[in-house]
Amino acid sequence: MSRKTRGFPLSLFKISARAAFGLALTLLPSSASLSSAPCQAAAGRQPDLKPRLDPSPAAQQVAPQAPRPLANRVVLLDAGHGGTDPGTMWGNYKEKNITLAVVLSLKAKLIALGARVETTRDTDTTVALQDRLDKSNQTCPDVFVSVHVNAVKSSAINGIETYWYDQRDQALADLSLSTVATNLKETPKWSHQRTLKVLHDNNVPATLVEVGYLTNARTRKLLVTKSYQDRIASALADTLLAYFKNPNSERGCPLVA
Ligand SMILES: [Zn+2]
Repeated sequence: MSRKTRGFPLSLFKISARAAFGLALTLLPSSASLSSAPCQAAAGRQPDLKPRLDPSPAAQQVAPQAPRPLANRVVLLDAGHGGTDPGTMWGNYKEKNITLAVVLSLKAKLIALGARVETTRDTDTTVALQDRLDKSNQTCPDVFVSVHVNAVKSSAINGIETYWYDQRDQALADLSLSTVATNLKETPKWSHQRTLKVLHDNNVPATLVEVGYLTNARTRKLLVTKSYQDRIASALADTLLAYFKNPNSERGCPLVA
C-alpha cells in the first residue's frame, strides 16, 4: 500500500459511502422502503435491490488503513520473571503469568499502531536479568519497558509505582506512572530512581512499571482477569503514544562521538 493510498482522505471515503447508500435508495421503487422489500418479493415482484457498482475512480478506492502513529518506532517489552522464577505469588496466581499476559496484549496493540516490537520473552521461559539487559543494549530499541506486579506484607496497600535509573529515563517513568494510574483509576504512588538490573546500564530510556499489588484483594481480583490485563496494556500503549508524540522525548542508544 502506497503512502498516497494510505493517506486517502476519510472525508472523501465518507462521501463515497453516502453516495453508494444514496444510489441504493434510488434503485428502490418510489413506494418501496427497505423494510417493505420482503413483502414485495412475497407478492411475486422481484425488485432489483442490489446497488450497482460505481465505476468512478473514487468508488474504487479501498477503505483507508488505520493510522500508524508508531510507525518506525521500536519498543522492547520485558515481561517480569518467567519459567522457574514465578515472581510474587498468591495461591495459584503467579506474577510471571500476569506480566506475560500484559506484555503479549501490549505487543499486539503496539504492532497495530505501527511499531516494531521485541520482547525479552513471549512464552513462560526463564530469562536471566543480564540477558534482558543485553538484548536492550545489543538491539538499541527506542525504549525499554519492564512490566512487574507488586507485593507487600500489608494487604491494605495498592497503587501504581514506576522506576527509573538514569536521568534520561525519568520522563518515561513519570509519564508511565501518570498515564497508567489515571487510566486504571488507581493511586499514582511514585516514580522513583532505583538501581535495578534491567534499568542500570541500560543504554536506552528504560522504565519498570509495577502495575498493581497481588497482595491487595481488590487489585488481585482485577489483575488475574484478561479484561484488566488488556486495560493495563492499553494504558501502557497510551503512555508510549504520548511519549513518542513529544519530539523532545529521548529515544534509543546515545550517539557515540
Ligand atoms: Zn517482579
